[in-house]
Amino acid sequence: MGKGPEKDPRAVCEAVAFDAGDLLADRDTRDTSTAPGSRELTEAATASLATELIGMQERLYAEGTGGGRRSLLLLLQGTDTSGKDGTVRGVVGAMNPAGVRIMSFKKPTAEELQHDFLWRIDNALPEAGNIGVFNRSQYEDILVVRVHDLVPESEWSTRYDRINEFEHRVVDAGTHIVKVMLHLSKDEQKKRLADRLEDPTKFWKYKPGDLSERAFWDDYQAAYQDALSRCSTDAAPWYVVPADRKWYRDWVVANLLVAAMRDMNPVYPAADFDVTEQRRLVADLD
Ligand code: AMP
Ligand code: MG
Repeated sequence: MGKGPEKDPRAVCEAVAFDAGDLLADRDTRDTSTAPGSRELTEAATASLATELIGMQERLYAEGTGGGRRSLLLLLQGTDTSGKDGTVRGVVGAMNPAGVRIMSFKKPTAEELQHDFLWRIDNALPEAGNIGVFNRSQYEDILVVRVHDLVPESEWSTRYDRINEFEHRVVDAGTHIVKVMLHLSKDEQKKRLADRLEDPTKFWKYKPGDLSERAFWDDYQAAYQDALSRCSTDAAPWYVVPADRKWYRDWVVANLLVAAMRDMNPVYPAADFDVTEQRRLVADLD
């Protein structure tokens, strides 16, 4: 503790990366061990990471206007109340909304069900120069679908490889993917559900149906374990972010995005006009 607010974002990524042999049950949802210090210090560090992100977002956007093909996708998974919306507000909210597209995936519509499960995902990928956020994703098709037998096992069991192939193609086409599982404890979920019922301004967030999903907690953990270990690839690794403390969650996700954007290192495009000539023309304007 107390080394000051600067931490290497790459080291934070490594601390929360989930490798094929890892166990979700070994991950502490209340962990804050890589935080730069107290809650206050950590929140200040998140704010300065956000400032850096805003600058890099502009460069990525500019690169896209100059013909660049690259984009960034933040994919968020996690149980009800794990903080997917809060993470979007806390980390993505500071960015220029013109270059951000947030997509929430719900129970598929009748039209979506007529297509392959990856159809709606493919259609929602960020355009060049943009930052996309997926609030839930293709992973629902091996999580809720598996837990509730919405399609036969012979079908969902093929989807791990299909997702890996799909993500590989997306990455090859220029989209950097950051996959985050917000890892919440069952106790903290109970607390958050109870809080929502104490505050009339939070009733809108409460869904009685979330209680019946909670009854499948262990099945979801098992489904997550398989999704994380079978779909954490070099092209698109998974990160498991301790989510019981919101300030720590936001700081970790900010680090994941800063690390990704520093790696991408987007560049402002060169002028596609004669700068000297244009300067002369502008100087001569009346
Ligand atoms: P929320 O994120 O709270 O608005 O809830 C969205 C709901 O849609 C969750 O219960 C998800 O499990 C469900 N959902 C998302 N994608 C799928 C899918 N592919 N198949 C079935 N249910 C889904
Ligand atoms: Mg919900």
